Order: sequence, then C-alpha cells, then structure tokens
Amino acid sequence: MTAENMEDLVSLCKRRGFIFPSNDIYGGMKGLYDFGPIGVELKLNLKSAWWKSIVYERDDVEGLDSTILTSPTVLKYSGHEDTFSDPLVDCKVCKARFRADQLEQSECPRGGSLNKCKSKDLTEPRPFNLMFKTAIGPVDDGSSFAYLRPETAQQIFVNFKNIVDSTSRVPPFGIAQIGKAFRNEITPRNFIFRVREFEQMELEYFVKPGSDESWHKYWVDKRLNWWADQGVKSEKLKLLEVEKKDLSHYSKATFDIMYEFPHGLEELEGIANRTDFDLGSHSKNQKDFNIKAKVKDNKNSTTKLAIQDLENKEWFIPFVIEPSAGVERGVLAVLNEAYTMDEANKRTLLKLKPHLSPFKAAVIPLKRNNSDLVNTANKVKSELQSLGLGRVMIENTGNIGKNYRRHDEIGTPLCVTIDFETLENQTVTVRDRDTMKQEKVSLSEIASYYSRYFR
Ligand code: ATP
Repeated sequence: MTAENMEDLVSLCKRRGFIFPSNDIYGGMKGLYDFGPIGVELKLNLKSAWWKSIVYERDDVEGLDSTILTSPTVLKYSGHEDTFSDPLVDCKVCKARFRADQLEQSECPRGGSLNKCKSKDLTEPRPFNLMFKTAIGPVDDGSSFAYLRPETAQQIFVNFKNIVDSTSRVPPFGIAQIGKAFRNEITPRNFIFRVREFEQMELEYFVKPGSDESWHKYWVDKRLNWWADQGVKSEKLKLLEVEKKDLSHYSKATFDIMYEFPHGLEELEGIANRTDFDLGSHSKNQKDFNIKAKVKDNKNSTTKLAIQDLENKEWFIPFVIEPSAGVERGVLAVLNEAYTMDEANKRTLLKLKPHLSPFKAAVIPLKRNNSDLVNTANKVKSELQSLGLGRVMIENTGNIGKNYRRHDEIGTPLCVTIDFETLENQTVTVRDRDTMKQEKVSLSEIASYYSRYFR
C-alpha cells in the first residue's frame, strides 16, 4: 500500500518530525526543507545503505568527500556555465515564471492549472542558468566568486589523479560521493521531489572505452535491484531510455529509473554513459589522447587525466558510467512505499525495511514514575544501543497506547515493554510493528533476539 496523495505524507512528516519547511517561523522559503529528528535518521540510513552497497560490499570503489564551493573554471570545462539551464517563460499578466518544458504540470499562482488560464500570455522561452553563485573573500565586486556545485560529480573528476595516485587503481573502478548539490529550480514543487538544495548519491565508474555499454547495463540492473532492496516495489519502477534529442551534452546514452511518486511517474535516479567527456574536458594535453567526446580546448588544467594500459602501455582516457540518485527523492519513494493504512486496527503505519527505520526499537517502561521499571528500561536501552545497529529510543511518557501509535507511524519495527512481569520473572514483551503480535522474551535474551532480528 502507498499514500493516497502527497498531502498524507506531508502531514505525517511534519506531525511526527520527519521533514519541516525550512525557515518556517519566518514564512518559509520555497524549495527548501529541513529534516527533523526522525527524518535525519531515515536519511542517514538510506545514505548508509547506498554507501554499504556501493563502497563496502565491493572491492573496486573508493570514497570521496569534496567541497561544495566550486571554482568557475571547473564548471566552465564541465559545460555547466554554457549549458546547465532550463527554458524560462514569464506570464505577462501575473508576472509568474514557469519552465517552458513543464507548462502542462504548472499551476497559475492565481489558482488552477496554467493550461486552463484564460489570460495566459507568455514571453518567448529564454535560458536560465540553474547554478547559484557566491562571492569569495571580503569584497563582493564580482571579480572572485564560486559556484555552489550543481552536482557532486565534477569534484570526483578533478580529484581523479589524486585518487588514482594514492590508491593505484586501474579501470574498472569507481569513486563514490554523497553530498549536497544546489540548483536554482525555476519552479520547485511536489514537496521534497524538486528542491533547490538537495543531496546526491553519485558513483563515477571508470571503464575502458569499448566496455562502457556492458558496464552501463550492469549498473542499470544493480541500481534497480538496490531500490527493490530498499522496499520500492519493482512494479512501481520503470526504466526509461532518454531520447537522443533530450540527452545531456556529456551523455552517449542515459537510462532514468522512474518511480510512481504520489504526483506521477518521475525520475528517481539517472544512469548515464558520460563517455570520456568529463576526464577529457578537464585534462591537459588533450591532443595526446584519442578523446571521443566533443570537449572544450583546455588551457588551464595542470594535470593529465589519463591511465596507462598495463598491457599495451598506451595512455587512454577512461569512459565513465554514472549512477546518480537524489537522497530526497529516495526518501520520498521509501516513505510512500511504506505508508500503510491499517483500517482494521484504525492505525497508520510505516512498513519501512528495518535497516531504514529511524529508530530500531523503542523501550517503554509501563509506568513512568516506577523507578524499578524505569531503571530496567534504561539498562535495556543502553544494552540495545551499544550493539550499534541504529538509534534506540526510551519512551518514558507512561502511555503505552500512544507510544505504540507513534512508533507505528514512524516505522519503529520493535517495541520492548518493561512491565511488572519483568521485575517478577525477568521477561519483557516485544511487540512487532507489522503484525502487532506480542511475545515474551527473557531479559537475558533480548540483546541476541534484537541482533537476530536485524541480521
Ligand atoms: P530532473 O529532470 O527531474 O530535473 P535531472 O535529470 O536534472 O532531474 P540529474 O542531473 O540526472 O537530474 O541528477 C541526478 C539525480 O539528482 C536525479 O535523478 C534526482 O534524483 C536528483 N535531483 C536532481 N535535481 C533535483 C532537485 N531539484 N531536487 C531533488 N532532487 C534532484
């Protein structure tokens, strides 16, 4: 089951502390959201699951954490200064701005769909660059500025030589990074789906030219399976091959993993064959290599971004396969998939995969002012917390029914209740979120029960 509409998710997220509009007490800012106490855990868990599958469970990927502030030279050679723009139109009547390629889905600020607006009178489309600029240093006279990166990928390419030299990697190998990206979207909308500040989980996987198409297929399959492992049902995902005319300037072929979001079928992750465009563009001595992509003549780079083929000793510029997923879109998809109305029991619950659950367990003393119960609960909480599987919560409000409801709604898989029987015969009651079944577990066994559950 999924949410019936976006409003259900927005309301749950605010009420339970997943996601808040940013700068809320001053009226908010469009396209910006903050992750609250519960949301931050979910987001961390999704990112950890990605890092685990892309870096730890493989032997051919290294990690990176690079700066957000990016030199204009990097984004000149990457092509972003020239091409990273959306077509913008203005309504001459109400002065609102829209993306010319998304008029169908746009709303008139005076209400209703833009298509039905009778006084619609739009300007000709003009390109609008999506990058945010910021001044560097004390004087803001436009002479020294940086961009807030619009994707994490470029810093991976400019660190290519550092990483190859320090790790002795040869293709096929990858560099992974998770971090913030910024885009001055003309019309941010649909909750956290299209925002101006977001996080990306990006892998740049470097391969020998000629093997790129089979690696591209490999990564598309891998990524589809990973989303299924996060609880996103395969039937809600569609693979779309981007038409040649719509490909980004660097791409030879791109597959978008599309997901049935509450507002419609849209991109969750893009997997592009970026060819040798990026390393080729940022490399010095470009003429020494047989670069296939059309790149700008680079007069500034200090470094050759090539690798020597160990067999024939020739230097070549690797091709790149890039799976790039948005963390916010991922959070929205897993929340939507997990959202369940249990009519029979009159409850809403999030059937999140346990590894994604913000809290792994809630430990609940039956009475808040009974020190024996509370002390035992504190001990159990510390014991479970020390196993390092994620956050364990102590709930000392004394209202067991409310606690169960709250933890169902935020997706806590297990509630461990400390009651008078615990004091008498050393057993606790464990309640399962999905089945609501309760079972008695001995106090001495609770840690191994809990570890087994998450294994
Ligand atoms: P779209 O066509 O939806 O604007 P895109 O093709 O420009 O997306 P990419 O440049 O391929 O997106 O970025 C990789 C991923 O980053 C996307 O698949 C998406 O998950 C995420 N992403 C991109 N733009 C945004 C945004 N404005 N808000 C949230 N996530 C985004």
